[in-house]
Amino acid sequence: MIIKPSIVRAAAALLLATALTPLSSAGRTLDEQMSVFVAPAPAPRPITIHAGELIDGTGKVMRDVTVTVLGTKIASVTPGRPTRPTYEFARLTVLPGLIDTHVHITTHFNDEGRATEKGESGEQRGLKWSENVWLTLISGFTTIQSIGADDDLVLRKAIQGGRLPGPRLLTSGQPLGDPKMSIDEIRRTVRERKAQGVDVIKMLVTRSIRDGGGQTWSDQQISAACDEARKQGLRTWVHAHADSAVRAAADGNCWAVTHAQLATVETLAYAHAKGMYIEPTFGVVQPNYMRNKAKLLGTGNYTEDAFKYMEGNVQENRDKWRRFLTVKNITYLSGGDTNAGAEGDNAREIIWRVQQGQDPMRAIVAATSVNARALNLGDKIGTIAPGMEADIVAVDGDPLKDILSLWRVRFVMKGGVVYKDLENCAGDPLARSAVVTCSRR
Ligand SMILES: [Zn+2]
Repeated sequence: MIIKPSIVRAAAALLLATALTPLSSAGRTLDEQMSVFVAPAPAPRPITIHAGELIDGTGKVMRDVTVTVLGTKIASVTPGRPTRPTYEFARLTVLPGLIDTHVHITTHFNDEGRATEKGESGEQRGLKWSENVWLTLISGFTTIQSIGADDDLVLRKAIQGGRLPGPRLLTSGQPLGDPKMSIDEIRRTVRERKAQGVDVIKMLVTRSIRDGGGQTWSDQQISAACDEARKQGLRTWVHAHADSAVRAAADGNCWAVTHAQLATVETLAYAHAKGMYIEPTFGVVQPNYMRNKAKLLGTGNYTEDAFKYMEGNVQENRDKWRRFLTVKNITYLSGGDTNAGAEGDNAREIIWRVQQGQDPMRAIVAATSVNARALNLGDKIGTIAPGMEADIVAVDGDPLKDILSLWRVRFVMKGGVVYKDLENCAGDPLARSAVVTCSRR
């Protein structure tokens, strides 16, 4: 075989250039020079979590098992205890990271304790948002859907970038609400939201319950919005109280309806049969308004009359929920409509539902695997099983016997990163990825 001298010369030049690369820095940026010395990422070390009790999110309970996490995912769930587990939670209950499908994560009270953003600087607002996502995450909620405000999009980006600790955040951006919109305008707005990068379309098709809850959109408008969203590959989340509006959303093949406070049991059963998710919001939102009356009174539609209405219907809401529970086979989504003053209180929705008669396992399954499916993330989160994202919490006590255990969150991991660990407060100071807090709520 004859090798041409020119090829040899070219190969020699290439070898020389390669060998000299780390030393010849002339004409290269600092980043390019540094990149030569960056070591390959080490293979992730397995993390083992030994659980005295494990609720897997689908309705199963396991005792004395070990969850192994590799990188961001759950690698295995096996019986027994390794010799030296990374986390020993023999006395705790381990669950999937909790999910709240209905929050308003950027709402907050200002420094004067009022529910208004008037006069606040961008910096002040940004800090409140950061506080809200942090409080939500360390309360065991590793995924939230915020419906919605455009501010959510900025916040979602910051969390996704990995530098702001917070739950996985899905958002609708600004909801569609104006009943004067033509069908064409509705369809165009849905496409605009899609271009903005929203995860879901939120529509307000009835008045607030404090204003009677009557239907404001026509059935045709409702079905056009849901149809256009479906064409764009987006889910829809329909704020509706009036029975007629819940029925119209079901007929329009909308994805989910929230509140549904005036829906009859027949309509709830009909909507469920049509495949629509139903998300009642009883346990967080109204009690939170009442607890924060002084901060809310005089803003928006929070009038004295509105508070009188709320004070008068506490028992009525309990009765409504018990009626909801009589509809067979529905697992209602667990959404709190969690807003200003309730950040980090998301578990109140689950706790309230159980205190008002729901089976605790059903309430937990709703807030984990069922909610995950309603977010179209059923194959990634909401269940502790191999291949799922490592979103794992541990609580003090057994929530199946004492639902208030959900209030005592000792450990929070999201995507394999530990954000809270009250069992081993010292943590590992060298583990850069672990943000450990020992603060108690
Ligand atoms: Zn809401």
